[in-house]
Amino acid sequence: MIELLFLLLPVAMAYGRFMGRNSIKQKDQTIKQDLSIKYSTGLNYLLSNQKDKAIDSLLDALKVEDDSVEAHFAMANLFRKRGELDRALKVHEHLVRHGNLPTKDKQQAVFELGKDFLSAGLYDRAETMFNKLLKSPDYGLKSLNYLLQIFQSTKDWQQGISHQKLVVKFNDKRLLHTLANFYCEQATSAFEQDKFIEVIELLEQALKLDPNSCRANWLMAKIYENHKQCELACKCYQDIYQQDKEFFPDVIDQMHKCYLHLDASDEFFRFIKKVYDETASSSALISYLSYVEKKHGNKKAKEFLLSALKRRPTIRGFKHLVKMEMKQADDVDNKASLDLIKELIGEYLKIKHRYSCRNCGFNSSTHYWSCPSCHEWEQLKPVRGLEGE
Ligand SMILES: [Zn+2]
Repeated sequence: MIELLFLLLPVAMAYGRFMGRNSIKQKDQTIKQDLSIKYSTGLNYLLSNQKDKAIDSLLDALKVEDDSVEAHFAMANLFRKRGELDRALKVHEHLVRHGNLPTKDKQQAVFELGKDFLSAGLYDRAETMFNKLLKSPDYGLKSLNYLLQIFQSTKDWQQGISHQKLVVKFNDKRLLHTLANFYCEQATSAFEQDKFIEVIELLEQALKLDPNSCRANWLMAKIYENHKQCELACKCYQDIYQQDKEFFPDVIDQMHKCYLHLDASDEFFRFIKKVYDETASSSALISYLSYVEKKHGNKKAKEFLLSALKRRPTIRGFKHLVKMEMKQADDVDNKASLDLIKELIGEYLKIKHRYSCRNCGFNSSTHYWSCPSCHEWEQLKPVRGLEGE
Protein backbone atom coordinates (compact mmCIF):
# COMPACT_ATOMS: atom_id res chain seq x y z
CA MET A 1 0.00 0.00 0.00
CA ILE A 2 2.79 2.40 0.97
CA GLU A 3 4.35 2.41 -2.51
CA LEU A 4 1.22 4.03 -3.92
CA LEU A 5 2.07 7.14 -1.96
CA PHE A 6 4.73 7.69 -4.61
CA LEU A 7 1.87 8.19 -7.04
CA LEU A 8 -0.25 10.18 -4.67
CA LEU A 9 2.49 12.69 -3.94
CA PRO A 10 3.08 14.03 -7.46
CA VAL A 11 -0.66 13.98 -8.16
CA ALA A 12 -1.30 15.96 -5.01
CA MET A 13 1.50 18.37 -5.94
CA ALA A 14 0.00 18.98 -9.37
CA TYR A 15 -3.42 19.48 -7.84
CA GLY A 16 -1.96 21.94 -5.32
CA ARG A 17 -0.27 23.94 -8.07
CA PHE A 18 -3.58 24.49 -9.86
CA MET A 19 -5.33 25.39 -6.64
CA GLY A 20 -2.59 27.82 -5.66
CA ARG A 21 -2.95 30.09 -8.69
CA ASN A 22 -4.69 33.37 -8.15
CA SER A 23 -6.40 33.63 -11.48
CA ILE A 24 -7.55 30.40 -12.95
CA LYS A 25 -8.45 30.52 -16.59
CA GLN A 26 -11.29 28.48 -18.04
CA LYS A 27 -8.98 25.80 -19.51
CA ASP A 28 -7.06 25.43 -16.27
CA GLN A 29 -10.35 25.21 -14.43
CA THR A 30 -11.39 22.20 -16.53
CA ILE A 31 -8.02 20.46 -16.01
CA LYS A 32 -8.25 21.13 -12.30
CA GLN A 33 -11.67 19.54 -12.11
CA ASP A 34 -10.55 16.54 -14.14
CA LEU A 35 -7.45 16.09 -11.98
CA SER A 36 -9.52 16.43 -8.87
CA ILE A 37 -11.96 13.69 -9.97
CA LYS A 38 -9.19 11.26 -10.96
CA TYR A 39 -7.27 11.97 -7.79
CA SER A 40 -10.33 11.33 -5.58
CA THR A 41 -11.22 8.20 -7.56
CA GLY A 42 -7.66 6.87 -7.16
CA LEU A 43 -7.72 7.65 -3.48
CA ASN A 44 -11.05 5.89 -3.06
CA TYR A 45 -9.77 2.77 -4.83
CA LEU A 46 -6.70 2.89 -2.62
CA LEU A 47 -8.74 3.14 0.55
CA SER A 48 -10.95 0.25 -0.52
CA ASN A 49 -7.75 -1.78 -1.18
CA GLN A 50 -8.30 -2.07 -4.95
CA LYS A 51 -4.66 -1.54 -5.83
CA ASP A 52 -4.79 -2.14 -9.60
CA LYS A 53 -7.69 0.22 -10.14
CA ALA A 54 -5.96 2.79 -7.92
CA ILE A 55 -2.77 2.57 -10.03
CA ASP A 56 -4.72 3.02 -13.28
CA SER A 57 -6.59 5.99 -11.96
CA LEU A 58 -3.57 7.69 -10.42
CA LEU A 59 -1.33 7.07 -13.46
CA ASP A 60 -4.06 8.56 -15.60
CA ALA A 61 -4.21 11.63 -13.39
CA LEU A 62 -0.47 11.99 -13.27
CA LYS A 63 1.24 14.39 -15.62
CA VAL A 64 4.78 13.16 -15.96
CA GLU A 65 6.92 16.17 -15.20
CA ASP A 66 10.52 16.61 -14.11
CA ASP A 67 9.59 16.53 -10.45
CA SER A 68 7.59 13.30 -10.65
CA VAL A 69 9.71 11.07 -12.92
CA GLU A 70 11.94 9.91 -10.09
CA ALA A 71 8.83 9.04 -8.06
CA HIS A 72 7.61 6.88 -10.94
CA PHE A 73 10.91 4.99 -11.16
CA ALA A 74 11.15 4.52 -7.40
CA MET A 75 7.64 3.15 -7.19
CA ALA A 76 8.08 0.78 -10.16
CA ASN A 77 11.34 -0.54 -8.68
CA LEU A 78 9.54 -1.21 -5.43
CA PHE A 79 6.90 -3.20 -7.32
CA ARG A 80 9.57 -5.20 -9.13
CA LYS A 81 11.49 -5.96 -5.93
CA ARG A 82 8.28 -7.32 -4.43
CA GLY A 83 7.69 -9.49 -7.48
CA GLU A 84 4.67 -7.45 -8.62
CA LEU A 85 5.95 -7.34 -12.19
CA ASP A 86 2.65 -6.51 -13.86
CA ARG A 87 2.48 -3.31 -11.80
CA ALA A 88 6.13 -2.39 -12.47
CA LEU A 89 5.48 -2.95 -16.18
CA LYS A 90 2.43 -0.73 -16.11
CA VAL A 91 4.34 2.22 -14.63
CA HIS A 92 7.36 1.82 -16.94
CA GLU A 93 5.14 1.48 -20.01
CA HIS A 94 3.35 4.63 -18.92
CA LEU A 95 6.71 6.45 -18.89
CA VAL A 96 7.82 5.01 -22.25
CA ARG A 97 4.54 6.06 -23.88
CA HIS A 98 4.89 9.61 -22.59
CA GLY A 99 5.78 11.92 -25.46
CA ASN A 100 7.60 14.77 -23.74
CA LEU A 101 10.02 12.90 -21.53
CA PRO A 102 13.72 14.00 -21.79
CA THR A 103 15.87 11.47 -23.73
CA LYS A 104 17.79 10.33 -20.65
CA ASP A 105 14.58 9.55 -18.73
CA LYS A 106 13.04 7.89 -21.76
CA GLN A 107 16.10 5.63 -22.12
CA GLN A 108 15.97 4.78 -18.44
CA ALA A 109 12.30 3.83 -18.80
CA VAL A 110 13.06 1.58 -21.82
CA PHE A 111 15.95 0.00 -19.90
CA GLU A 112 13.80 -0.65 -16.81
CA LEU A 113 11.05 -2.04 -18.99
CA GLY A 114 13.60 -4.44 -20.50
CA LYS A 115 14.53 -5.56 -16.98
CA ASP A 116 10.84 -6.10 -16.13
CA PHE A 117 10.38 -8.31 -19.22
CA LEU A 118 13.56 -10.19 -18.37
CA SER A 119 12.35 -10.84 -14.79
CA ALA A 120 9.04 -12.05 -16.20
CA GLY A 121 10.90 -14.44 -18.56
CA LEU A 122 9.63 -12.59 -21.65
CA TYR A 123 13.00 -12.75 -23.41
CA ASP A 124 11.81 -11.59 -26.86
CA ARG A 125 10.35 -8.38 -25.48
CA ALA A 126 13.33 -7.77 -23.20
CA GLU A 127 15.64 -8.25 -26.21
CA THR A 128 13.66 -5.66 -28.21
CA MET A 129 14.02 -3.11 -25.39
CA PHE A 130 17.77 -3.66 -24.87
CA ASN A 131 18.43 -3.59 -28.63
CA LYS A 132 16.93 -0.08 -28.74
CA LEU A 133 19.59 1.16 -26.31
CA LEU A 134 22.78 -0.27 -27.81
CA LYS A 135 23.90 3.15 -29.10
CA SER A 136 23.15 4.94 -25.84
CA PRO A 137 26.25 6.20 -23.99
CA ASP A 138 24.48 5.62 -20.65
CA TYR A 139 22.74 2.30 -21.29
CA GLY A 140 24.63 0.74 -24.25
CA LEU A 141 27.06 -1.41 -22.23
CA LYS A 142 24.47 -2.37 -19.61
CA SER A 143 21.99 -3.37 -22.32
CA LEU A 144 24.59 -5.44 -24.15
CA ASN A 145 25.33 -7.18 -20.86
CA TYR A 146 21.67 -8.12 -20.45
CA LEU A 147 21.42 -9.20 -24.09
CA LEU A 148 24.31 -11.64 -23.63
CA GLN A 149 22.58 -12.93 -20.49
CA ILE A 150 19.47 -13.61 -22.57
CA PHE A 151 21.46 -15.41 -25.28
CA GLN A 152 23.19 -17.47 -22.59
CA SER A 153 19.84 -18.46 -21.07
CA THR A 154 18.43 -19.44 -24.45
CA LYS A 155 21.73 -21.03 -25.55
CA ASP A 156 21.61 -18.86 -28.66
CA TRP A 157 25.39 -18.65 -29.03
CA GLN A 158 25.26 -17.43 -32.63
CA GLN A 159 23.11 -14.43 -31.70
CA GLY A 160 25.65 -13.52 -29.03
CA ILE A 161 28.51 -13.84 -31.51
CA SER A 162 26.64 -11.56 -33.94
CA HIS A 163 27.22 -8.77 -31.36
CA GLN A 164 31.00 -9.32 -31.42
CA LYS A 165 31.84 -5.95 -33.02
CA LEU A 166 30.06 -4.10 -30.25
CA VAL A 167 31.62 -6.23 -27.52
CA VAL A 168 35.08 -5.53 -28.95
CA LYS A 169 34.23 -1.82 -29.22
CA PHE A 170 33.24 -1.62 -25.53
CA ASN A 171 36.38 -3.63 -24.66
CA ASP A 172 34.75 -4.81 -21.43
CA LYS A 173 36.75 -7.70 -19.93
CA ARG A 174 33.73 -9.55 -18.59
CA LEU A 175 31.83 -9.38 -21.88
CA LEU A 176 34.90 -10.49 -23.85
CA HIS A 177 35.22 -13.46 -21.48
CA THR A 178 31.51 -14.28 -21.93
CA LEU A 179 31.73 -14.13 -25.72
CA ALA A 180 34.85 -16.33 -25.70
CA ASN A 181 32.75 -18.93 -23.88
CA PHE A 182 30.02 -18.64 -26.54
CA TYR A 183 32.70 -19.62 -29.08
CA CYS A 184 33.74 -22.48 -26.76
CA GLU A 185 30.13 -23.70 -26.66
CA GLN A 186 30.05 -23.79 -30.47
CA ALA A 187 33.46 -25.46 -30.52
CA THR A 188 32.15 -28.14 -28.12
CA SER A 189 29.33 -29.00 -30.56
CA ALA A 190 31.83 -29.13 -33.44
CA PHE A 191 34.15 -31.26 -31.26
CA GLU A 192 31.37 -33.79 -30.68
CA GLN A 193 31.12 -34.16 -34.47
CA ASP A 194 34.92 -34.31 -34.71
CA LYS A 195 35.12 -31.29 -37.06
CA PHE A 196 38.81 -30.64 -36.46
CA ILE A 197 39.30 -27.46 -38.53
CA GLU A 198 36.06 -25.88 -37.29
CA VAL A 199 36.94 -26.56 -33.64
CA ILE A 200 40.40 -25.00 -34.03
CA GLU A 201 39.01 -21.93 -35.81
CA LEU A 202 36.32 -21.36 -33.18
CA LEU A 203 38.79 -21.76 -30.33
CA GLU A 204 41.26 -19.38 -31.97
CA GLN A 205 38.44 -16.81 -32.04
CA ALA A 206 37.77 -17.49 -28.34
CA LEU A 207 41.44 -16.98 -27.46
CA LYS A 208 41.56 -13.81 -29.54
CA LEU A 209 38.73 -12.37 -27.45
CA ASP A 210 40.04 -13.69 -24.16
CA PRO A 211 43.67 -14.90 -24.18
CA ASN A 212 43.11 -16.18 -20.62
CA SER A 213 40.36 -18.62 -21.54
CA CYS A 214 41.70 -21.90 -20.15
CA ARG A 215 38.53 -23.59 -21.42
CA ALA A 216 39.58 -22.82 -25.01
CA ASN A 217 43.02 -24.33 -24.42
CA TRP A 218 41.52 -27.32 -22.62
CA LEU A 219 39.27 -28.12 -25.60
CA MET A 220 42.08 -27.44 -28.05
CA ALA A 221 44.31 -29.90 -26.18
CA LYS A 222 41.57 -32.52 -26.41
CA ILE A 223 41.08 -32.15 -30.17
CA TYR A 224 44.85 -32.21 -30.79
CA GLU A 225 45.07 -35.36 -28.66
CA ASN A 226 42.26 -37.03 -30.61
CA HIS A 227 44.17 -36.28 -33.80
CA LYS A 228 47.46 -37.57 -32.38
CA GLN A 229 49.08 -34.15 -32.28
CA CYS A 230 50.35 -34.64 -28.74
CA GLU A 231 53.11 -32.04 -28.92
CA LEU A 232 50.55 -29.29 -29.57
CA ALA A 233 48.26 -30.73 -26.88
CA CYS A 234 51.11 -30.58 -24.33
CA LYS A 235 51.69 -26.94 -25.23
CA CYS A 236 48.00 -26.21 -24.57
CA TYR A 237 48.21 -27.90 -21.16
CA GLN A 238 51.26 -25.81 -20.28
CA ASP A 239 49.34 -22.70 -21.31
CA ILE A 240 46.46 -23.71 -19.00
CA TYR A 241 48.91 -23.69 -16.09
CA GLN A 242 49.95 -20.15 -16.98
CA GLN A 243 46.32 -19.07 -17.44
CA ASP A 244 44.72 -20.62 -14.39
CA LYS A 245 46.80 -22.37 -11.73
CA GLU A 246 43.71 -23.23 -9.69
CA PHE A 247 42.06 -25.13 -12.55
CA PHE A 248 45.29 -26.89 -13.60
CA PRO A 249 45.09 -29.92 -11.19
CA ASP A 250 42.14 -31.17 -13.27
CA VAL A 251 44.29 -31.64 -16.38
CA ILE A 252 47.36 -33.27 -14.81
CA ASP A 253 46.40 -36.89 -15.63
CA GLN A 254 45.47 -36.06 -19.20
CA MET A 255 48.66 -34.08 -19.66
CA HIS A 256 50.68 -37.04 -18.37
CA LYS A 257 49.08 -39.33 -20.98
CA CYS A 258 50.10 -36.87 -23.70
CA TYR A 259 53.74 -36.79 -22.59
CA LEU A 260 53.74 -40.60 -22.40
CA HIS A 261 52.68 -40.71 -26.06
CA LEU A 262 55.67 -38.53 -26.86
CA ASP A 263 57.86 -40.75 -24.71
CA ALA A 264 58.76 -37.65 -22.70
CA SER A 265 57.79 -38.73 -19.21
CA ASP A 266 60.86 -37.16 -17.55
CA GLU A 267 60.05 -33.79 -19.08
CA PHE A 268 56.49 -34.08 -17.73
CA PHE A 269 57.70 -34.79 -14.19
CA ARG A 270 60.13 -31.87 -14.33
CA PHE A 271 57.16 -29.69 -15.17
CA ILE A 272 54.98 -31.26 -12.44
CA LYS A 273 57.72 -30.78 -9.83
CA LYS A 274 57.77 -27.10 -10.73
CA VAL A 275 53.94 -27.01 -10.42
CA TYR A 276 54.13 -28.67 -7.01
CA ASP A 277 56.86 -26.27 -5.79
CA GLU A 278 54.83 -23.26 -6.91
CA THR A 279 51.32 -24.32 -5.89
CA ALA A 280 51.67 -27.20 -3.35
CA SER A 281 48.70 -28.87 -5.13
CA SER A 282 47.96 -32.37 -3.83
CA SER A 283 47.25 -33.67 -7.37
CA ALA A 284 50.70 -32.45 -8.48
CA LEU A 285 52.25 -34.03 -5.36
CA ILE A 286 50.60 -37.43 -5.95
CA SER A 287 51.61 -37.35 -9.62
CA TYR A 288 55.22 -36.46 -8.78
CA LEU A 289 55.41 -39.22 -6.12
CA SER A 290 54.90 -41.90 -8.79
CA TYR A 291 58.10 -40.59 -10.43
CA VAL A 292 60.08 -40.53 -7.16
CA GLU A 293 58.91 -44.07 -6.38
CA LYS A 294 59.93 -45.34 -9.80
CA LYS A 295 63.31 -43.59 -9.80
CA HIS A 296 64.35 -43.80 -6.15
CA GLY A 297 62.15 -46.45 -4.58
CA ASN A 298 59.28 -46.62 -2.14
CA LYS A 299 61.30 -45.46 0.88
CA LYS A 300 62.38 -42.17 -0.72
CA ALA A 301 58.87 -41.54 -2.02
CA LYS A 302 57.44 -42.07 1.48
CA GLU A 303 59.99 -39.66 2.97
CA PHE A 304 59.09 -37.08 0.36
CA LEU A 305 55.36 -37.49 1.05
CA LEU A 306 55.79 -37.29 4.84
CA SER A 307 57.75 -34.06 4.66
CA ALA A 308 55.17 -32.65 2.21
CA LEU A 309 52.29 -33.58 4.54
CA LYS A 310 54.04 -32.03 7.53
CA ARG A 311 54.32 -28.76 5.65
CA ARG A 312 50.80 -28.89 4.22
CA PRO A 313 48.48 -31.68 5.36
CA THR A 314 45.68 -32.78 3.00
CA ILE A 315 43.24 -35.70 3.19
CA ARG A 316 44.15 -36.79 -0.34
CA GLY A 317 47.84 -36.81 0.56
CA PHE A 318 47.08 -38.84 3.68
CA LYS A 319 45.08 -41.36 1.62
CA HIS A 320 48.10 -41.76 -0.65
CA LEU A 321 50.32 -42.34 2.38
CA VAL A 322 48.03 -45.18 3.55
CA LYS A 323 48.22 -46.64 0.03
CA MET A 324 52.04 -46.60 0.19
CA GLU A 325 52.00 -48.16 3.66
CA MET A 326 49.82 -50.96 2.30
CA LYS A 327 52.43 -51.80 -0.32
CA GLN A 328 55.08 -52.24 2.37
CA ALA A 329 52.92 -54.05 4.95
CA ASP A 330 53.89 -57.74 5.25
CA ASP A 331 51.36 -58.71 7.85
CA VAL A 332 47.93 -59.69 6.43
CA ASP A 333 46.07 -58.14 9.39
CA ASN A 334 47.96 -54.89 9.00
CA LYS A 335 47.14 -54.82 5.31
CA ALA A 336 43.43 -55.37 6.03
CA SER A 337 43.36 -52.52 8.59
CA LEU A 338 45.13 -50.15 6.22
CA ASP A 339 42.75 -51.13 3.45
CA LEU A 340 39.82 -50.29 5.71
CA ILE A 341 41.31 -46.86 6.54
CA LYS A 342 41.88 -46.19 2.84
CA GLU A 343 38.29 -47.17 2.05
CA LEU A 344 36.99 -44.89 4.80
CA ILE A 345 39.00 -41.92 3.55
CA GLY A 346 37.81 -42.66 0.02
CA GLU A 347 34.17 -42.64 1.17
CA TYR A 348 34.76 -39.42 3.12
CA LEU A 349 36.24 -37.71 0.05
CA LYS A 350 33.31 -38.89 -2.08
CA ILE A 351 30.81 -36.91 -0.01
CA LYS A 352 32.99 -33.80 -0.20
CA HIS A 353 32.52 -31.46 -3.14
CA ARG A 354 35.37 -31.38 -5.59
CA TYR A 355 34.54 -27.93 -7.01
CA SER A 356 33.51 -24.57 -5.65
CA CYS A 357 32.50 -21.42 -7.53
CA ARG A 358 35.00 -18.64 -6.88
CA ASN A 359 32.29 -16.08 -7.59
CA CYS A 360 29.32 -17.21 -5.47
CA GLY A 361 30.56 -20.14 -3.38
CA PHE A 362 28.32 -22.76 -5.05
CA ASN A 363 29.67 -26.27 -4.37
CA SER A 364 29.47 -29.22 -6.73
CA SER A 365 30.95 -32.67 -7.33
CA THR A 366 30.58 -32.15 -11.07
CA HIS A 367 32.44 -29.56 -13.07
CA TYR A 368 30.42 -26.96 -15.01
CA TRP A 369 31.86 -24.28 -17.26
CA SER A 370 28.99 -21.96 -16.37
CA CYS A 371 28.12 -21.89 -12.66
CA PRO A 372 24.55 -23.27 -12.22
CA SER A 373 24.00 -20.75 -9.43
CA CYS A 374 25.46 -17.39 -10.57
CA HIS A 375 25.92 -18.32 -14.30
CA GLU A 376 29.45 -16.86 -14.38
CA TRP A 377 31.82 -18.62 -16.78
CA GLU A 378 34.89 -20.66 -15.74
CA GLN A 379 34.48 -19.99 -12.02
CA LEU A 380 34.08 -23.60 -10.79
CA LYS A 381 37.53 -24.74 -9.69
CA PRO A 382 38.91 -27.54 -7.48
CA VAL A 383 38.46 -26.82 -3.77
CA ARG A 384 41.65 -25.83 -1.95
CA GLY A 385 42.66 -26.69 1.60
CA LEU A 386 42.61 -29.77 3.83
CA GLU A 387 39.82 -31.59 1.96
CA GLY A 388 40.79 -30.44 -1.52
CA GLU A 389 43.88 -29.54 -3.45
ZN1 LIG B 1 28.71 -19.19 -8.98
